[in-house]
Amino acid sequence: MRKHIVAGNWKMNTTLQKGLELAKNVNTQISGNDVIVVLCSPFIHLSEVSKIINKDALFLGAQNCADKENGAYTGEVSAAMIKSTGASYVIIGHSERRAYYGETNEILATKVKLALQYELTPIFCIGEVLEEREAEEHFNVVKTQLNEGLVDLSDENFSKIVIAYEPVWAIGTGKTATPDQAQEMHKIIRDHIADSYGQKIAEGTSILYGGSCKPSNAGDLFTNPDVDGGLIGGASLNAEDFMGIVTAF
Ligand code: PEP
Repeated sequence: MRKHIVAGNWKMNTTLQKGLELAKNVNTQISGNDVIVVLCSPFIHLSEVSKIINKDALFLGAQNCADKENGAYTGEVSAAMIKSTGASYVIIGHSERRAYYGETNEILATKVKLALQYELTPIFCIGEVLEEREAEEHFNVVKTQLNEGLVDLSDENFSKIVIAYEPVWAIGTGKTATPDQAQEMHKIIRDHIADSYGQKIAEGTSILYGGSCKPSNAGDLFTNPDVDGGLIGGASLNAEDFMGIVTAF
């Protein structure tokens, strides 16, 4: 049985105080269900959030990590630093990092390896922009992101990775992929993983959907056989909405 995961990506939202309030609110509503729930807060919140959550029921993640191990890289935050806060997940390759900060698949491949080296679970994001879908290139785009971002990984390391399929046209737009569109792509991704790493690893890989997921559509998305959870942006900033998604399984 692969893991069901709902991860909240707070992005660059919440002051430290507001973030702690949000984390406390989610923490009180978590009752140790079958879903792994992850809060991906801004870097500076991590160690404080880590102190107040029940770590048996709630996990902590960062939204990015450096592509260098340590050293003179002003302003960067390494995988080792993230791990030292008590976090266990890190989002890598979010479309906003790719689009606004020029993160290429090559850079992301380095980040994935560093995350694994420091025992963080990468949530590796892939997804096409609208023009690519309209040109019917979306399957190829996603396969290339997988091929180039997740390179030279042993079977053991690949099986530690979580994939998040996030069609860029659905992120923060209110326009969600239909359950059929999500299932179609998730199946393509799983089959592609099976071609490279075998059926057993593909069947064990959690593939999350992200893009305007909310309590009202989460249930329909999550009933698909290849949709194993969600990466949630906007709706993760409200504890009730976020928990509405968590309990949609
Ligand atoms: C995201 O940024 O990962 C995301 C899915 O955002 P939203 O839920 O706001 O579309």
